[in-house]
Amino acid sequence: MDKGQILIAGPCSAETEEQVMTTAKALAAQGVKIFRAGVWKPRTKPGCFEGNGEKALPWMQRVKAETGMKVATEVATPQHVEAALKAGIDMFWIGARTSVNPFAVQDIADSLKGVDIPVMVKNPINPDVELWIGAIERIRRAGVKNVSVIHRGFSSYDRRIYRYQPMWQIPIELRRRMPETEMICDPSHMGGRRDLIAELSQQAMDLGMDGLMIECHCNPEEAWSDAKQQITPEALREVMANLAVKQETQETEYISLFRKQIDEIDKEIIDVLARRMEICREIGRYKKEHGMKVVHDSRYSEIIADRGLQCKDKQLGEDCVMKIFEEIHQESIRQQMAINKEQGE
Ligand code: PEP
Ligand code: MN
Repeated sequence: MDKGQILIAGPCSAETEEQVMTTAKALAAQGVKIFRAGVWKPRTKPGCFEGNGEKALPWMQRVKAETGMKVATEVATPQHVEAALKAGIDMFWIGARTSVNPFAVQDIADSLKGVDIPVMVKNPINPDVELWIGAIERIRRAGVKNVSVIHRGFSSYDRRIYRYQPMWQIPIELRRRMPETEMICDPSHMGGRRDLIAELSQQAMDLGMDGLMIECHCNPEEAWSDAKQQITPEALREVMANLAVKQETQETEYISLFRKQIDEIDKEIIDVLARRMEICREIGRYKKEHGMKVVHDSRYSEIIADRGLQCKDKQLGEDCVMKIFEEIHQESIRQQMAINKEQGE
């Protein structure tokens, strides 16, 4: 890949020696340097293809020997670590169903003591940045120096668009807390659909991620796992060619002019919120004096519905405005409850 980005590509699973070699050769021919394939596959339900296990490790060795690419696979137990190290696998990743479990991550970390192999920690399936950070720390404390992360989206009941919700604010928070950690995006598992890969990859680049992990298969429709989200090596070439890598945002005079305005507006928002809360406290004192309840359900529904309407034609997302007013209402309740407590004591 050009543009100094990391690109890891390869099939969801190592299915057969032929499938692995055909896919790997096509990817190497277009300059991919790191090949991925799942040898052990954690599956949601029993009865699905669970990977070939150790039988597939010699195929990965062949990829290394015949293409010169580095090879990466998922490890979920100390036994996987041991077998993969013996086979000369170059990089490991810890899957989303493993990074969610501190016991499992600690077992892997213990088995990595004294071994300096790059390890990529996928986000846990639930949107918990602390758990993700915890998994990274466990691997680092084992002495592994090169620990990077993979953002692959978060499980949610809502699968209308994405298989796993991107929730970009979570990897952004992780980067704020661990700025030195390389971050790769996996648009394949996130989207769960081939047609979303280009768009999600671009979004990841726009947010300054360091690279991509994309599932590629020589015959995606026939894949034994994740068939809907895999793309051919040719399709990968197109995704990469169309990717615009943007430069760092510079603090130009033009931008700083607008940032000053934003600082002013934020100050006004805080002043307005403070005024709103002062009025809420006044109402709170009145309610207390007259023995009224703090929450008035119909008034709350009215506020939420009305503020939703007010944001129409103002280029404001209705969901976002509702969330803001839910938070504001929460804070009003908290302040009125505090008044109740104060006066009651
Ligand atoms: C994978 O990368 O093949 C995989 C199983 O991913 P995840 O852990 O993100 O579901
Ligand atoms: Mn997969």
